[in-house]
Amino acid sequence: MEIERHEYDVVVIGAGGAGLRAAIEARQQGKRTAIVCKSLFGKAHTVMAEGGAAAAMGNVNSDDNWMVHFRDTMRGGKFLNNWRMAELHAKEAADRVWELEAWGALFDRTKDGKISQRNFGGHEYPRLAHVGDRTGLELIRTLQQRVVALQQEDYETHGDYEAYIKVFQECTVTRLLKDASSVHGPAGAISGAFGYWRETGNFILFDAPAVVLATGGIGKSYVVTSNSWEYTGDGHALALLAGANLINMEFIQFHPTGMVWPPSVRGILVTESVRGDGGVLRNSEGKRFMFDYIPDVFKDKYATTEEEGDRWYTDQANNRRPPELLPRDEVARAINAEVKAGRGSPQGGVFLDVSTRLPAEEIKRRLPSMHHQFKELADVDITAEPMQVGPTCHYIMGGVEVDADTGAAAVPGLFAAGEVSGGMHGSNRLGGNSLSDLLVFGRRAGLGAAEYVNALPARPAVAQESVDAAKAEALAPLERSGENPYEVHHELQRTMNDLVGIIRKAEEVSEALEVVEKLKERVELVGAAGSRIYNPGWHLALDLRNMLLVSECVARAALLRQESRGGHTRDDFPGMNPEWRRKLLVCATPDGAAVTVEEKVQPPMRKDLFDLFDLGELKKYLTEEELGNAE
Ligand code: FAD
Repeated sequence: MEIERHEYDVVVIGAGGAGLRAAIEARQQGKRTAIVCKSLFGKAHTVMAEGGAAAAMGNVNSDDNWMVHFRDTMRGGKFLNNWRMAELHAKEAADRVWELEAWGALFDRTKDGKISQRNFGGHEYPRLAHVGDRTGLELIRTLQQRVVALQQEDYETHGDYEAYIKVFQECTVTRLLKDASSVHGPAGAISGAFGYWRETGNFILFDAPAVVLATGGIGKSYVVTSNSWEYTGDGHALALLAGANLINMEFIQFHPTGMVWPPSVRGILVTESVRGDGGVLRNSEGKRFMFDYIPDVFKDKYATTEEEGDRWYTDQANNRRPPELLPRDEVARAINAEVKAGRGSPQGGVFLDVSTRLPAEEIKRRLPSMHHQFKELADVDITAEPMQVGPTCHYIMGGVEVDADTGAAAVPGLFAAGEVSGGMHGSNRLGGNSLSDLLVFGRRAGLGAAEYVNALPARPAVAQESVDAAKAEALAPLERSGENPYEVHHELQRTMNDLVGIIRKAEEVSEALEVVEKLKERVELVGAAGSRIYNPGWHLALDLRNMLLVSECVARAALLRQESRGGHTRDDFPGMNPEWRRKLLVCATPDGAAVTVEEKVQPPMRKDLFDLFDLGELKKYLTEEELGNAE
């Protein structure tokens, strides 16, 4: 059968916040742009974001500015962040939020009519621009509206709405294609992408010199996750297989508050805004246990008594914030420890209570989705009783290693932005910093891709050999009747959850790697019954390659990093080690099958950024040598 073929300048894979912002930019730079997404257009993960987008606009507290945001982000990431990305993000996030408003976003307002901003864990000042607890939905709505506005402009000029920007929805990319002269290895430029239509199973080929990956995260490799079905690490794997590198893969954020009951909805997110707006965590003894878990590095920044913590909600200038608002990694570990110590809730979580803290009407006004979610899914009225919550796999800090300014990966023509990229959040992301990351780096990757295309002397050609190989690889599961893809998937999820989860040990991670090796062999035998027409078993069989590759990266890096930092906690190496802070673990797959991991030392922080911190604080994180060099 003929493969449908399309020519573009830039192909953006993913229609979440990062993908849409990248596509808008590429089109605004005059590039013919395709947006390809595995799910329905508008159903990206970004839609689920509840709390808001972090940007130092200073609307609620005028002391806020990009430098405070930069400092908070570096602290949250335990100083492992790519500081250039953290700098660009802190400086540009506010402009990106204002731009959204200019494109029609309707944010909640302060009394004097400015965009309102709410408190969130790890942010010194109220900083999250939000729309109730449905911010992601508004962000996507606005970006889609912008795409439509551009299409209307194109109709005026070219008589064709889709002349310069076209959406291919329910279309899954399975391989990136490279220039004919170098099909294998890291050298050689991107020449396109290969995929299939979900509905018909027919193949599609995009001939394009630049590809922006914006495919989001990897949560579906774990059993308990806040992530939806399309988070199978596709972009991470596509980049690896094309010869790019992944960094920081050991750092996975377990959000402290997922629903724990009933089992059918286990893992679904309970937004951090519940705590930002006054909700507190208690154990089965009714104790606000977070006061027992303030780490030394944060001791001077958090309240040590309930009275002070409570006063902070109304007087932030004279009180320290309550420890329920510590960065997510700290809160998740604390909940895990309370449950392990036998002080958990009946269904294995802890209690999150907002009902005794705010009037019912206020809860319904500020947290409408949470009220609805608990009522519908767990028959719990959060205005009258506490929620039961526990850690859930939420976000991966690791991803494609990119140039901070342009989003360019190691393979010419390949760009990445959003959750699929790595570096910006270091070892732990602060809540709200993802939505702003999508906008800042989505725009930069779209621009980077457009400028790359402008500078190309000639268009790279698609190698027929790689198209044939991609087609054969995609068809293989349909031609076998072996292993069941659902069983392989379930075993992978259990293994990652139990052995490479929130607390890790060398023996357990090694055991996980042995399981992954065996599963890799089994995946080669996975078969999918039925035809190519709307066949979820076949789709999962294809996704398994990606989940296994990504899981192997996570486990290999987790085994190597002998310290605990952010989203990587080693039971056998409990402390942070400044020598490890400087190192990135870089995953690659030179032969397209086995994962290699190499250490790479990060460049030292620029002097003017270094000087934004108190030396006493930096001493907690940096090596003597780094401190000496900067002085
Ligand atoms: P996504 O929005 O997930 O988009 C990925 C896109 O890639 C989708 O269109 C998907 O279909 C497509 N795709 C994937 N694979 C393929 C493929 N092979 N071929 C074609 N298309 C593909 N962050 C915040 O900052 N603030 C919040 O309040 C917040 N709340 C959250 C609440 C929940 C419940 C969750 C799960 C996350 C939350 N986050 C929040 C995190 C944030 O929402 C995500 O990190 C962010 O939306 C990721 O955006 P993205 O553009 O990178 O990817």
